[in-house]
Amino acid sequence: QDEVTIITAVLDLREKSAKSIMTPIEDVFTLPMDRVVDEQLIGDIICAGYSRIPVHRPGFPHDFIDDCWPVSKFALATLPQTFPDTSCLDLMNYCQEGKSHMILISDHPGDKFGALGVITLEDIIEELIGEEIIDE
Ligand code: ADP
Repeated sequence: QDEVTIITAVLDLREKSAKSIMTPIEDVFTLPMDRVVDEQLIGDIICAGYSRIPVHRPGFPHDFIDDCWPVSKFALATLPQTFPDTSCLDLMNYCQEGKSHMILISDHPGDKFGALGVITLEDIIEELIGEEIIDE
């Protein structure tokens, strides 16, 4: 019975779109690339509590930067992007390949603007098990 439940849940992921489970961009804690790293910023980051923080172009909060941008002090990981209708199963497979645990959802993947939201592996696993995961 457990096996059937698991397989059904995995197959259900095929029907769910990225858009339906993403964290909307308005709710995402992001930083502009020109923000000075000082005590205040460190405090803000600790307070927000997220381990991944998308970095955007100053003045363009939906315009995310990647490792092509000249950020001198920090090596930024490229945030992979996909369309809102990508299935959660495809997203899970992508994460499993170890490419990234956060994916940007955009109407224009490939361009660096127009982000709609983000998805992390945790969002997909929550969808899979049907329960919220409480971070320890
Ligand atoms: P973390 O490892 O930072 O705890 P998770 O990957 O476990 O983050 O994701 C937990 C939830 O928080 C998910 O719903 C995810 O979409 C959301 N999330 C992750 N990073 C951010 C962020 N920078 N701003 C807002 N929400 C985020």
